[in-house]
Amino acid sequence: MSSLSIKLFGPVALIALLHVSSCTTTNQRPEVNAPTKSQPQLEERAASLSRKKEAVEKFFSPMTVREGDWLDSQKEAGETFEQYIASDPTLPTPQRRTIYIQPIGTFDQKQRQAIRLTAEYIGAFYDLPVKLNADRALGNVPADKTRRIAYRNNLQIRTNYFLADVLPKMLPDDAAALVAFTNYDLYPEETWAFVFGQATFSERVGVWSLYRFGDPATGKTDAKLLLDRTLKVAVHEIGHMFSMKHCVKYECLMSGTNHLAETDRRPLDNCPECMAKVAWAMNYDPVSRYLDLAAFWEKQARVDEARKFLEKAKAIE
Ligand SMILES: [Zn+2]
Ligand SMILES: [Zn+2]
Repeated sequence: MSSLSIKLFGPVALIALLHVSSCTTTNQRPEVNAPTKSQPQLEERAASLSRKKEAVEKFFSPMTVREGDWLDSQKEAGETFEQYIASDPTLPTPQRRTIYIQPIGTFDQKQRQAIRLTAEYIGAFYDLPVKLNADRALGNVPADKTRRIAYRNNLQIRTNYFLADVLPKMLPDDAAALVAFTNYDLYPEETWAFVFGQATFSERVGVWSLYRFGDPATGKTDAKLLLDRTLKVAVHEIGHMFSMKHCVKYECLMSGTNHLAETDRRPLDNCPECMAKVAWAMNYDPVSRYLDLAAFWEKQARVDEARKFLEKAKAIE
């Protein structure tokens, strides 16, 4: 990162660069897609999903780009459902289809609740088994992978400690991914201020921090905001693990984000193109998916969210 870019663009550019690291990691194939259905069956399913996209278009807004947003500085082409299929994406296999969530460190009650609900949401979103592991202590972090920064005098842990030292050793054979959540602030390299999270897709592991998900305006943690941010980041990054690219057509959970306000603006769901990708990749009936997601929000007493998913289910039935 050049200091010039920081001087020119200020903190926004800095955050953009940081997010790039968590979102453009090379997606080397950890496994090959082993189709279990014949080609005509796959093509028929793809064609059927392609037709369903239109029915839910009205629930999504076209992408708008404001100053400082992800697409204000990143040039991206996006990816249609059809392009995704043609890209031969990395998919879960019968042997590797469980998403493991690993809390590391200590959490307050709201953070713990956000992690538990995020695990549940991932299950409904991708129709994959999700296992929430018991808490794990941070362990002895080597001195060159920890530092203190002046701002809030906070302790930071280098992402590499999790991605190289801790997580690969504990990756189960049946894991599609192992995602760690921590409350420690993270940094990827000495020259960077912080990072929200980072993943190495070849190793199928990632780490995300909840540290900055509270509301900086009030200094308090709003439980709803914390949950939405935690699950948006987790669902987005898991989408990348299954080769999904950033979305540029709609305001979508799979669109890149540059700052938390942009994350907050995104819906809690995938746009029609990305809905079709998930339904195809996971062989997940999109009506069942919308109903499962509606049920999740009903349990949280988030009636508006539940209603939107019910309406989408009805629209594509
Ligand atoms: Zn991304
Ligand atoms: Zn999308």
